[in-house]
Amino acid sequence: MSQHVQFLLRAEEMPAHWYNLNADFPEPLPPPLHPGTREPVTPDLMTALFPENLVQQEMSPERHIEIPGEVREVLSLYRPTPLLRAVRLERALRTPAHLYYKYEGNSPAGSHKPNTAIPQAYYNKVAGTKRLATETGAGQWGSSLSMACQVFGLECTVYMVKVSFHQKPYRKLLMQTYGATVHASPSPYTEYGRKVLAEDPDCLGSLGLAISEAIEDTAKTPGTKYALGSVLNHVCLHQTVIGLETIRQMQMAGEEPDIVIGCAGGGSNFAGIAFPFVQRKLQAGAKTRIIAAEPASCPSLTQGELRYDFGDTAETTPLMMMHTLGHKFMPPSIHAGGLRYHGMAPMVSHCLKLGLIDARAVPQLKAFESGVLFARSEGLVPAPESAHGIAVAIQEAIRCREEGRKQVIVFNLSGNGLLDLAAYDSYLSGQLQDSGPGI
Ligand SMILES: *Cc1c(COP(=O)(O)O)cnc(C)c1O
Repeated sequence: MSQHVQFLLRAEEMPAHWYNLNADFPEPLPPPLHPGTREPVTPDLMTALFPENLVQQEMSPERHIEIPGEVREVLSLYRPTPLLRAVRLERALRTPAHLYYKYEGNSPAGSHKPNTAIPQAYYNKVAGTKRLATETGAGQWGSSLSMACQVFGLECTVYMVKVSFHQKPYRKLLMQTYGATVHASPSPYTEYGRKVLAEDPDCLGSLGLAISEAIEDTAKTPGTKYALGSVLNHVCLHQTVIGLETIRQMQMAGEEPDIVIGCAGGGSNFAGIAFPFVQRKLQAGAKTRIIAAEPASCPSLTQGELRYDFGDTAETTPLMMMHTLGHKFMPPSIHAGGLRYHGMAPMVSHCLKLGLIDARAVPQLKAFESGVLFARSEGLVPAPESAHGIAVAIQEAIRCREEGRKQVIVFNLSGNGLLDLAAYDSYLSGQLQDSGPGI
């Protein structure tokens, strides 16, 4: 037997705390602002949407936040997750680099998103919430939250971007199997949805629009709160179990990462793998290069502006300081639905501003080419979102070959692509194109 390929933690080695990078930023994160007064939002504005315990987490300056026992118990359905060395991909690339990937696709919903859906459902239950409303693009977040709501006995209503509702029925069916109610957005069930439909009955929807519908539903329905699957501080916080486990697993592998990579849509899985490594840069002077891989068609980090902007189309959310393409931006319908968001998590945006991370845009065709090479060498079909991260890992491994340099590269493989095979079909049959502002 040659190299060791899997690095597995024991159940009791699952992190007991989340890591909060807000405790360590050399310059504080600009606060969210009230859209009317432009003053920092007060917790009571947030508690209209979120339960108080999550609002506290959102604003917490504490470095380590304990993961409640009941949350750990549910997370242990699939955590700790494995770290693997991609030796066959290394051989296919003839690279001296060592490539490792953290695999988050073994969760019940097939991605990293249950890492935050589970604690969000738990904190809502503890706070007395009866029902959660949310939005979903391709359905990964909606299916994760539906699953978590079922576990904790909450009702769940999901506004799903209409184009995905019709083109990608499987995640809708998954949500319904978990007991959720799913509406195609724009829907006739909210005032905003009706207004959009009156202007354009054929509107295919967008994530920003679906967020507006879910927020309106929350504001109008007693016992209902809202849940978001990315962007917010507490979501990034919940995802740090990924990086905390990866650090221990790289110690098991006896290697120090030179480069850490994650794909970035709203920024949460990237934050999850990156923030514990950012802490080591800040505290121990580690030289790790940390790269966010975003789609060239929706390039908020590489081409967006850093400014205050709304999180949704109807301008109902607080203003957040983030890299943004503008809240009216309608991304082209690329096949990595989870990466089609106009803004980037404020914490990830702040990291880029402070020079703690880099960002790179990946064209859709390059992502699929990389996803197929990965599937054919490692056997695992990655989600199209994750394939953007793989594309950057491959670029770096090829650079290592050209420079004759051994470097250690770690990337987060955020989800499996088994419900995205129609997208692979489009790629394999030559129907996919590159489009958007980053091309
Ligand atoms: C949702 C999703 C993403 C993008 O969301 P982030 O918040 O940027 O992590 C990436 N990969 C997969 C598999 C997803 O489901």
